[in-house]
Amino acid sequence: MGRIYLSPPHMGEHERKLLVEAFDSNWIAPLGPHVDAFEQEVAARVGVSHAVALSSGTGALHLALQILGAGAGDEVLVSTLTFSASANPITYVGARPVFIDCDRATWNMDPALLAEELEVSARRGKLPKAVIVVDLFGQCADYDPIRAACVRYEVPILEDAAEALGASYKGRSAGSLGELGVFSFNGNKIITTSGGGMLVANRKDWIDRARFLATQARDPSPHYQHSQIGYNYRLSNLLAAVGRGQLRVLDQRVAERRASRDYYRKALDLPGIDFMPEATYGRSNGWLTCITVDACAFGATREDIRLHLESRDIESRPIWKPMHLQPVFSACRVRGGNVARDLFERGLCLPSGSSLTVEERDRVAAEVRSVRRRRASSHDHDA
Ligand SMILES: *Cc1c(COP(=O)(O)O)cnc(C)c1O
Repeated sequence: MGRIYLSPPHMGEHERKLLVEAFDSNWIAPLGPHVDAFEQEVAARVGVSHAVALSSGTGALHLALQILGAGAGDEVLVSTLTFSASANPITYVGARPVFIDCDRATWNMDPALLAEELEVSARRGKLPKAVIVVDLFGQCADYDPIRAACVRYEVPILEDAAEALGASYKGRSAGSLGELGVFSFNGNKIITTSGGGMLVANRKDWIDRARFLATQARDPSPHYQHSQIGYNYRLSNLLAAVGRGQLRVLDQRVAERRASRDYYRKALDLPGIDFMPEATYGRSNGWLTCITVDACAFGATREDIRLHLESRDIESRPIWKPMHLQPVFSACRVRGGNVARDLFERGLCLPSGSSLTVEERDRVAAEVRSVRRRRASSHDHDA
């Protein structure tokens, strides 16, 4: 029995064929026909007009913040319950993150807290430059009230859909719900190019500018002429070929991950175990199946489960540690924070890869259940 990973890459024949074709074409560079095609295909899939393929989701967020004009002394609001890459780019541009708690119904940014924060900042006369809304674990945030609050104060939404490609909100695709949207193709995401990202928007001038900045900010000239600072952020043509193959099977990957989650829901229908709720306004891509553990009702803690799984060569992981609890962001403001803290303390992500076999997920569920039984029998023994 091999190790069961949390969310390993899942490749097929399409990917292999396209990669070899890219290799043989000698377009072994951060540009080429697969890069152009991958951009068009992702834009079409998501329902936006323009896209630029980049070397990471983090780089996409960095460029997006520059496009929105965030700079030294500015504030940018962001969900506290997320991966650090949602917040780090705010500091790259010299701005300061302000964290917003999530709500229990979605685990995403609480729209009421966002509205409160915007109202207070408007009264202070210093509105944030942007709000980074994260679609956590593959589920979209509740964009209608979030947008209403942002429109009122004319603050743009930057959608961090790194985990949510293939998800939807009221029939619209994740990534198309803000002024700008970001995807990641890192190794553990629902589809992967080993590393990579994409920035999407309906404004051509923004995506053109992102492409310019991502290509070392070369002015149009036969020699190398620069009037701005640029970056080396473009995606390799080889990796774009892999991404195109992955995109073709995205719907399958979503179906497989959702099926695992449905399976876990039935197999772990136990006192003290709850699942991340799926909001009725949309459809999650099922990226990671997340549970919370009530130690009293279950008879063991989240850590008991995680350590037991690890001892059986099964990888699971606590849900993201909120940004407002991270030492590196300890000086930043936070609105609320206790919901995210509670979810972090009790939350666990279970193996959710789309290549997870029926036998493997049986094994995971049986090991989770056994933690409870072992606890119960050791108590009997004590008595
Ligand atoms: C993975 C991830 C990112 C960063 O993407 P990379 O491609 O790894 O740079 C950003 N935000 C969230 C929420 C993520 O999960």
